[in-house]
Amino acid sequence: MGRQETFYELIRRQGISRRNFLKFCSLSAASLGLAPHFAGKIAHAMETKPRVPVLWLHGLECTCCTESFIRSAHPLAKDVILSMVSLDYDDTIMAAAGHQAEQAIEDVMRDYKGQYILAVEGNPPLAEDGIFCIPGGKPFVDKLKHVAADAAAVIAWGSCASWGCVQAAKPNPTQATPIHKVIKNKPIVKVPGCPPIAEVMTGVITYYVTFGELPALDKQGRPLMFYSQRVHDKCYRRCHFDAGQFAETFDDRGSREGYCLYKVGCRGPTTYNACSTTRWNEGVSFPIASGHGCLGCSEPDFWDNGPFYERLQTFPQFGAEATANRIGATAAAVVGVGIAAHAGLTALRQAKVKPNSPAETDKRA
Ligand code: SF4
Ligand code: SF4
Repeated sequence: MGRQETFYELIRRQGISRRNFLKFCSLSAASLGLAPHFAGKIAHAMETKPRVPVLWLHGLECTCCTESFIRSAHPLAKDVILSMVSLDYDDTIMAAAGHQAEQAIEDVMRDYKGQYILAVEGNPPLAEDGIFCIPGGKPFVDKLKHVAADAAAVIAWGSCASWGCVQAAKPNPTQATPIHKVIKNKPIVKVPGCPPIAEVMTGVITYYVTFGELPALDKQGRPLMFYSQRVHDKCYRRCHFDAGQFAETFDDRGSREGYCLYKVGCRGPTTYNACSTTRWNEGVSFPIASGHGCLGCSEPDFWDNGPFYERLQTFPQFGAEATANRIGATAAAVVGVGIAAHAGLTALRQAKVKPNSPAETDKRA
């Protein structure tokens, strides 16, 4: 097989101007949170490095990661799939089927040994020799191990591949298993979420194509560039949290006023993801902006982490963990010590009567 052409060669062949190419590089740098001068590095990589072959496998999953991926705006998913990488196998979107499709895997493994990326959506069920997921006539777990053997690196798309997700929720009858428990000798980047954010997915690929290595990871194996902050840290409702103003139910006045959703179960305070900064659908919105608390979908075992609509019972922000009942008063005290003395006193008064009741807020209005 001949040399893979570069991204730049390919887009020039498609008639795209150099000016637009450089614009693309600037946007990509911005979407990765990199300083403007990194646009030049991205341009250099795209001009000189051959496109990376990618084999994208699907195990037990619902395809929501692919659904999210194709909605990426910066960069566009079509630029990633058709130009930045060479997506040589993806059983969801490839035209080939049957033996022809399976042969594509073997061809890439032979011609790009140690150079291709394995991207995995979903996970392998291990019960009864893997019988609960049989793509191409073989247990998925066997296919996964086979393709991983010669990969340069592995991307675990979504919470299914990263943690197991709903398939692995108790009692997990199929023994659905996250991929790092099956692939043990390859670098793996986990991109959890149910699904992950589109721009986070394309951002991880852009980073690898540009720098030839996986981005820096946190202790759980997630890229720090997208998972270093809690949803709570940049949430636009945070001012209400700090002021001790909470929705008590989904249809009370506090909810209509856009108060903090902590008491109706929001897990933003313990969830690391980019939802409150990158948002979804080209930055239009995210679940909390639609009035629903964060479910913690990018954290391990989120389906088994207690009922979704009950408030977190412990809260890690305040050093020695505070109980849920102290949150309103503690938050209000913080505000009172700071510049918003009025808000603090108001919240303290609320805490005495009934913590942060919207009805009390009505009376004061
Ligand atoms: S608890 Fe949830 S709604 Fe409230 S500020 Fe934190 S992330 Fe936002
Ligand atoms: S807001 Fe929370 S539950 Fe919703 S997508 Fe983001 S991390 Fe997942």
